[in-house]
Amino acid sequence: MIEHFAIAIDGPSGAGKSSLARRAAAHFGLIYVDTGAIYRCVGLAAKRAGINTRDAQAVQAILPSLDIRMLYNVTGEQRMYLGDEDVSSDIRLPEISICASNVSAHPAVRAYLLEMQRKMAREHNVIMDGRDIGTVVLPDAELKIFLTASAEARAQRRMLELQGKGIDTTFEDVLKDIELRDYQDTHRAEAPLRQAEDAVLLDTTEFNFDESFGLLCQIIRERLGLIG
Ligand code: C5P
Repeated sequence: MIEHFAIAIDGPSGAGKSSLARRAAAHFGLIYVDTGAIYRCVGLAAKRAGINTRDAQAVQAILPSLDIRMLYNVTGEQRMYLGDEDVSSDIRLPEISICASNVSAHPAVRAYLLEMQRKMAREHNVIMDGRDIGTVVLPDAELKIFLTASAEARAQRRMLELQGKGIDTTFEDVLKDIELRDYQDTHRAEAPLRQAEDAVLLDTTEFNFDESFGLLCQIIRERLGLIG
């Protein structure tokens, strides 16, 4: 069994990366790092500052004043702070998703967040999810997984998740948001979403959550020799 390792999970919005990675982390005793949450903090801060999140210079200008903290509570849950404020719920608001996608296209933002992500992987055995973990952040990760599903399947799941949180939305709106973010995330010049050459593809369109989790665990056990 390898002593220190990283598992990188990339894929489009709503593929189930965070739910699956979170559960796998608890199952195998790893630290789960949700990197989308960090981009969401930048998106939220930019929106609050009243700046256009597509404006690279304006977004870059607020970076030095940001105090983004990623903390873990006793149950291993990742909480995001801007200064002393816990923004873990605010960053999940649907209008922040597109702000996060907008700010994430700016090279200065990606460079600013890179070290924070790599530091986590140096200090812990992580399962880290995002869009460029296997390609840019952790190119030497011991295991890379590209997790995807059809846009419709992802929209359906995301809609149920949002409705479960009491957020009123429709399938059409969620699908539109997912397709727009897919387009932006795959077409940006800097660290676009793409499958790393050495990543294992896991398409969960036809599988429910438990089945997808079973497949993910099987890959982790086979590739890293972990028990569980
Ligand atoms: O994963 P999540 O949907 O929370 O991420 C929000 C946005 O942050 C994504 O649409 C994507 O544009 C961006 N992101 C990124 N690189 C990552 C993680 C997220 O560009 N590693």
